[in-house]
Amino acid sequence: MAAPPYTRGLHEVGDGVFAWLQPDGSWGWSNAGLVVDGEASLLVDTLYDLRTTGEMLDAMRRATPAAATIDTLVNTHANGDHCWGNQLVRDARIVASRACAEEMLELPPALLADLVAAPPEGPTGELLQRMFGAFDFRGIELVPPTETFEGELTLRVGDREVRLLEVGPAHTRGDVVVHLPADGVVFTGDILFNGGHPIVWAGPVDNWVAACDRIVELAPDTVVPGHGAVCTTDEVARLRDYLRFVQREAGARAEAGMSPLDAARDIDLGEYEDLGERERFVANVVAVYRDLGHDVAADPPSLLAQMAAYGAG
Ligand SMILES: [Zn+2]
Repeated sequence: MAAPPYTRGLHEVGDGVFAWLQPDGSWGWSNAGLVVDGEASLLVDTLYDLRTTGEMLDAMRRATPAAATIDTLVNTHANGDHCWGNQLVRDARIVASRACAEEMLELPPALLADLVAAPPEGPTGELLQRMFGAFDFRGIELVPPTETFEGELTLRVGDREVRLLEVGPAHTRGDVVVHLPADGVVFTGDILFNGGHPIVWAGPVDNWVAACDRIVELAPDTVVPGHGAVCTTDEVARLRDYLRFVQREAGARAEAGMSPLDAARDIDLGEYEDLGERERFVANVVAVYRDLGHDVAADPPSLLAQMAAYGAG
């Protein structure tokens, strides 16, 4: 099946397999998925807030009767833009990796709601506004997985086989990709950002490279990224090359004693110049430093400050 246009809404990418797309795929504008067979249904990820998730579920119900009740929800990872709508399908069986389930409880949505209501002055405040300003985090209740696994888990949706492959820690601590072998479709979660810089929250970067290789080896026809347009494994291979590029360029500058911020500013992005969310590049440089054993500030507030500084020029 040809890749659907990158427009907001529900797109069929296989027989009974749908992608919910949210252009432009920048901070918080994540994709989700729906797999149905007969009356059975499986949702891949909820969205960042109750409004966006509610609109998605309404559209799914209009498109297919099987979505009237979501039987199973898979959260690909712990970032809020993939699980903060869980309460709208709270009766579902909710499946995630154990590491994802643990990480999910660490950031209370109310904290972000407060941050958005009273952002700090300056570049960090402007970045926070860009990251979160379009969303409404009030009233969000964390609804954690009801079932966790490590490694691999095979689920059934009607007669259809759905394979969950844990590939983290990479983007986050518990990343999972969702593979539909008979349909040639992979939902990557945020192992793939298509059109924007990825961001390494957890790492190591080598694990993320291995995750890309694993997806390419699955040889799906259709790849639904966590953000951006539906694509093929070409984009997965491109992301792997990007990660190797950051490792190479940042690694050399770490050895030369530069700070991560100076290193990021010094690196010519070359073919990656066109990617969105450029500020994430410095976070990825930090991740490489950390992987190499350098003592660098890599907690979320420090990463935000460095991203704001790098993004501001
Ligand atoms: Zn995301």
